[in-house]
Amino acid sequence: MTDLPYPYREAVPLYFYPFLSPLTCQADAAMVHNFHSSLQERKAPDLDRLIYIHIPFCKDICFFCGFYRDAIGHGNQEVLRAYVESLKAEIKAYSETEYLRKCKISAVYFGGGTPTILGHDLMDSLLRTIHDSFAVEPGTELSYEGEVRTLKDKDKLKVLKALGCTRVSFGVQTFNERARRLSGLKPTMADIRECIDNINEYGFDPNLDLMYGLPGQTESVWESDLKKAIELRAANIDIYDTVLYPHTILFRQRHKLKNELPTLSQRLTMMEMGMRLLVDAGYTQETIEDFHLPSKGYKMKRLVYGGGDGRSEILACGAAAVGVLNGYSYRNLTPQKYLNWWENRKLPPELMYRMTDEDFRKRALVFFPKVLELKKECLPFGWLEQYRPIIDGMKDRQLIEETSTSLMPTEKGMLWADNMAMEFLETREQRKIWKIGH
Ligand code: SF4
Repeated sequence: MTDLPYPYREAVPLYFYPFLSPLTCQADAAMVHNFHSSLQERKAPDLDRLIYIHIPFCKDICFFCGFYRDAIGHGNQEVLRAYVESLKAEIKAYSETEYLRKCKISAVYFGGGTPTILGHDLMDSLLRTIHDSFAVEPGTELSYEGEVRTLKDKDKLKVLKALGCTRVSFGVQTFNERARRLSGLKPTMADIRECIDNINEYGFDPNLDLMYGLPGQTESVWESDLKKAIELRAANIDIYDTVLYPHTILFRQRHKLKNELPTLSQRLTMMEMGMRLLVDAGYTQETIEDFHLPSKGYKMKRLVYGGGDGRSEILACGAAAVGVLNGYSYRNLTPQKYLNWWENRKLPPELMYRMTDEDFRKRALVFFPKVLELKKECLPFGWLEQYRPIIDGMKDRQLIEETSTSLMPTEKGMLWADNMAMEFLETREQRKIWKIGH
C-alpha cells in the first residue's frame, strides 16, 4: 500500500487523558485526603457527568482482549459478592460528598469485564444503590454491558428492565464461526440468537460490538458481519480494530496465525467499509467507533473522550477504574487490593493527578479526532499558532478540514484517529503509550 499518512497505524489505548504514570502519580494518603476534602467544599458545577461502574471479571478470556479483567467461573459468586460490597461502599462514599449530592448525571454505564456475570440479586442490589445514591432522572441513559451466555438469564433482564436500564449491549465481534473459534469466542450462533431474542422480548434494542481484523476474518466475512448487524436493526453498532496488545493470547499466537491475520491494508479497507455501510444504512456516526440509529443516540463514549470540550466528568467506581472528577484524574486500586478498600482508606484511588486548566483543554485537543470535531473556542489563546505546524501537516495529508470555527477529521483522517491524537502529545507522553505495529 502506498501513500500512507503514517509509517504504521498506531494501535494505542487512547481512552483517557491525561495519562497516569505509576512512577509519578502514586496517590499517597495526603493526596487522597485532599481529594476527599475538596469534594466536601462545593457543589459540582453544571457539567456533563458519567457514572462508570467497572466489573472486571469474565467467564472466559477472549484471545484478543486487552481490557482490565480476570477470568472467574460461576462458582465464585462469593468473590463477586465481596466485590459488589466494596463497590457499594465506594458509590456511597462519593454520593455523600457535597460535590456529588444531587449533582447532574448525564449517563450511567456498567462496563467490564462482564457486568452480567453478577447474579441477578447482585445486579439488583448494585442498581438500587445507584438509584438510592444519585439523582438519576427517569429516562437517563443507563447502559449495562453483557456477554451473550449470561444475558440468556431472563431474571437478569427483568432486573435491568425494572431498574431503569435503557441500553443492553454485548460483544458479538463476528458472526463467522471460524473467526470466532480462532478468537476464542465461546458463545455459539445459537447462543447469540437466543440472547438477541431475549433482549427483544424485554423491549431492549440490541446494541452490538463488532471487531475487524480478527484472525480468519476476510473482507467478505467482515462485510457479511456488518450486513447481519444492520439486518438485526441494532440500535447501536460499535466497530473496533483488533489490537495485538502484548499481554493477549492473540499476541502470543501472532506468528502461528500470520496468514490468518488481516494486513494493515485490509484493516483500513474494513474500517472504510464499516463507516460506509453503516452510514448508507441510516446510522449516524457519534464518535470514531460508535454508530447509532437516528433516535437511539448515546453519550457514554463521547463523555469518556472529554465531551468535545474536554470538560466532562467521570465518576469511575470499581477496581482499576479511571475517573476525572473535581479537577483530579485518578485510577483505582487493582482487584486484589480493591476488595475491602474501605477498611483502610477514605476513597480507593491508587494513582492520582491534579489537573490544570491547560490539561482540560489539551484533553479536548487530543480527543478531537475521536469525537470528530474541535471547536476552536475550546483552545486557549495562542494554541492554534503553537500547534499550527501539526495542524497544517494534517491538512496537507488530507486528514483534517479546517473552518473558521472548527477542526474536523476527514474520512481518511478517521482511519488514523489514534495516530492524529498521538501527534498532539508531548514526547514524554508518547513514550508512555504502547507502540504496536501489525
Ligand atoms: S468478554 Fe469482553 S472483557 Fe471479557 S475477555 Fe471477552 S472481550 Fe474481554
